[in-house]
Amino acid sequence: MHVERVAFDTHTLTAGRPLEGAEYQQGTLYGYEVREYLLAKWGRACAYCGATGVPLNIDHIHPRSRGGSDRVSNLVVACISCNQVKDDRLVEEFLSGKPKLLARIRAHAKAPLRDAAAAQSTRWALWRRLDQRLPVHTASGGRTKWNRTRAGLPKSHTLDALCAGKLDTVTETVQTVLVAGCAGRGTHCRTRTDAHGFPRLRLPRTKQFFGFATGDLVRAVVPAGKKAGTHTGRVAVRATGKFNITTLHGTVQGIHHRHVRLLQRADGYAYTITKEQ
Ligand SMILES: [Zn+2]
Repeated sequence: MHVERVAFDTHTLTAGRPLEGAEYQQGTLYGYEVREYLLAKWGRACAYCGATGVPLNIDHIHPRSRGGSDRVSNLVVACISCNQVKDDRLVEEFLSGKPKLLARIRAHAKAPLRDAAAAQSTRWALWRRLDQRLPVHTASGGRTKWNRTRAGLPKSHTLDALCAGKLDTVTETVQTVLVAGCAGRGTHCRTRTDAHGFPRLRLPRTKQFFGFATGDLVRAVVPAGKKAGTHTGRVAVRATGKFNITTLHGTVQGIHHRHVRLLQRADGYAYTITKEQ
């Protein structure tokens, strides 16, 4: 199993390897890591003017043409116009009227992005749990993006999942996707309250009625009447034996339990099969 554990590989970055040539532009893995790192470090905004939501280039604080290094501590992200205006000028010259901004950029450039900021705690928790029972390889989001770009795939959650970890080529893409979403297992609270917090109604003590529990995936085949037809979806059970079923097309109410067949027990997750794209 391959897990995207971190947004980018800070270990490689802080090892301090300088970028070789124009590596940061030519689609190498290291270039992707650097770019993702810089975007996170500078909050996806131009370091000089603060513009967001615009294309951002990698800019050398101390220009390369004047001996500036390719280390990440000398790099910022800048919008295209700032990048062009600054060009080969020294940063002191470019920001001559703005000493405060200059000092802030310098301090921020030197400070490495902490690991804590680079990884969401959920991803780490997920990895720890998986690692206890499965052989797990971890990779960075930079690698995922690099893989996806090399394979020429559009951006989607599914294709990103396909591209996590070490990958040679993609020969086949997915058509259908099984989506597992959190649905919950219900509530312990046995009352519903009104707007003032007073009990409004009492909920039943048992979860199951006629062998079904709210959240079960069911199919009801109703032979006749206003609700005739086949309804597949999540059921909401009622003590009366008249259930509601939430299907893809809406909720059908008052379906008698004897028409209902169980497809899958509720386990706290909602499983749906959807078409990719
Ligand atoms: Zn700018």
